[in-house]
Amino acid sequence: MLKSKILIVEDDAIESMDIKINLENMGYEVSAVTSSGEEALPMISQHMPDLVLMDIILKGKMNGVEVAQKIKDEYDLPVIYLTSNSEEKTLEKAKLTEPFGYVIKPYDIVLLRYTIEIGLYKHKMEKKLESRLQYFKNVFDNAPIGIFHSTIEGKFIRVNKALSSMLGYSTQKELINEVNKLNVADKIYNSPEKRPEFISNAIKDDKWHSYKNEYIRKDGNIMIGELYFRSIRNTDGSIRYLEGFITDVTEQKELEEARMKTEMIAWDRLAEIDGIYDSSPIGLCTLDKDLRYIRINENLARINGFPAIKHIGKTPREIIPTISEKIESMAKKTLKTGRSIMGVEMEGITPSMPGVLRTWIVQSVPFKDIDGNVIGISFSVLEITEMKKAQKELFETVKKLKLSNEELQRFAYVVSHDFKEPLRMVLSFTQLLQSRYEGEFDNEADEFIGFIIEGSKRMERLLDDLLTYSRITTTEEKYSEIDLNKIIEDSIYPLKLIIEENNVEITWDHMPTILINRTQMIHVFQNLITNAIKFRNNKTPKIHISVKLERDQWIFGVSDNGIGIDPHYHKRIFEVFQRLHRRDEYDGTGMGLFLTKKIIEGHNGHIWVESEEGKGSTFYFTLPVENNNI
Ligand code: ADP
Repeated sequence: MLKSKILIVEDDAIESMDIKINLENMGYEVSAVTSSGEEALPMISQHMPDLVLMDIILKGKMNGVEVAQKIKDEYDLPVIYLTSNSEEKTLEKAKLTEPFGYVIKPYDIVLLRYTIEIGLYKHKMEKKLESRLQYFKNVFDNAPIGIFHSTIEGKFIRVNKALSSMLGYSTQKELINEVNKLNVADKIYNSPEKRPEFISNAIKDDKWHSYKNEYIRKDGNIMIGELYFRSIRNTDGSIRYLEGFITDVTEQKELEEARMKTEMIAWDRLAEIDGIYDSSPIGLCTLDKDLRYIRINENLARINGFPAIKHIGKTPREIIPTISEKIESMAKKTLKTGRSIMGVEMEGITPSMPGVLRTWIVQSVPFKDIDGNVIGISFSVLEITEMKKAQKELFETVKKLKLSNEELQRFAYVVSHDFKEPLRMVLSFTQLLQSRYEGEFDNEADEFIGFIIEGSKRMERLLDDLLTYSRITTTEEKYSEIDLNKIIEDSIYPLKLIIEENNVEITWDHMPTILINRTQMIHVFQNLITNAIKFRNNKTPKIHISVKLERDQWIFGVSDNGIGIDPHYHKRIFEVFQRLHRRDEYDGTGMGLFLTKKIIEGHNGHIWVESEEGKGSTFYFTLPVENNNI
């Protein structure tokens, strides 16, 4: 063991020597002996003794008390005073330097040793305590959780860094000052009324009590803290202070709330799905692997003719025997393959409507557990009995309509074709009558003959149009993908003469290739172009055929710079035999646009005109890009 080193400061040389000898005999090392305070201080820094024996009254500038004070402040060494009969005043001063003991001169050796040992031990203990305190202070200050010590009245004694930053304060001091202006509860508790309960629990025993408590941060926001609270007692049992640990669980709480919310939404959805399931207009049910109903909705239960509850645990064979075979075979297939079977039309009779043959569209889907194993089959059943009936009726009606339409078209054809012959005869003989006998009868007779010829000619044109109509609408020609540039060229070819005669300028955009009926489409362009020329004004006729793609359809426009059409008549001109002019102004029968409209509609398009009187017209029509229904 190392010897403890002692420095002796004593101005009496004999005395100091005596002490030195005694100390060395006791086993101490006397590192130095000095007679004045001035000398003592540099020696201390040189020898670093463990203890200083200091004569209270020293000769020289500094007395013992002053030197001891310096030693305490600068070196933190234990000092034991050597004193004879010192005056009260000096002792008072000496006391302030917190000496580790006094040895009264002339000293007793045993007492000297005892005092030195006590001094050394006390100093060692103090050092230990200090480092322990330092350690605890460190832990307290740097702990990741908020720690505080407070009085029962709610004043903070100390708080750590974590707590001050948790509550939004920049320093511990700021938090303590702010809180202590009021008290803990009134300043930082969101519900101050809770504190009495915390206190009474804390002082009841020494255990930790935990609470979820809401704190008001400096910025006014709420922090949710998990508070651990207890009392610390003095040895006599009285309360020394209250200790609390706080962890910020705001986020946890938010997470928890979010989780709760999600769960609630999920439950809501489930209830919603349940509601949809039960009130679905489609019959729904689920069978387990043994083909027993485990769930069925109201609709299907009604179709089957039994309350839903009666199905559970039973098989389709027991509930709907007449159609169970088909259902079971579908179910078994789905169970085996794990695949859905879609849209199977099924007919049968159910107990709910004995004697009525009903039709359904049935679908089976595998019902899987969370790992994807097929554990049953879900069926959806759509009743189409009424729809089927209506469809059948519609089919019959369409068939009848088609027949009568065909009859009508045939009739139109026969009328137009067969009537032409006798009409031709009337016309040619009347013309013969006119050429041979004009002027032979009176004026009126000549006029009448003229009327007959004119009427017959008109009738001939009407019959021609009717014939075109029946020919075009009954054409057997198939639809095919055709380049519309070609159709336009073919349409204007027969009109070449009138185009040239009237100096018509005709242009068109580059046209697409689409699915059309060639003959009908030529008629459309021919009719629109003829009209554009026919209804020209005194300007040189200019015709442009445009095309643009808009979403899923082509929009064509045939525009002219002709007489235009009053918007009032924009609809009427598409009706059969509707014309806006007298024949002596513009020739025609009023069939053209009617037939054009029919053709466009037959191609799943529509037609309209945009025009104003005197400002030209544009006839627009659409054709679908994907024309699957023709
Ligand atoms: P028609 O040409 O035999 O009279 P349409 O059915 O083709 O019969 O046309 C119906 C009416 O629509 C025409 O009589 C005319 O008044 C008007 N019309 C048609 N096209 C044009 C046009 N490009 N400009 C002005 N009016 C037109």
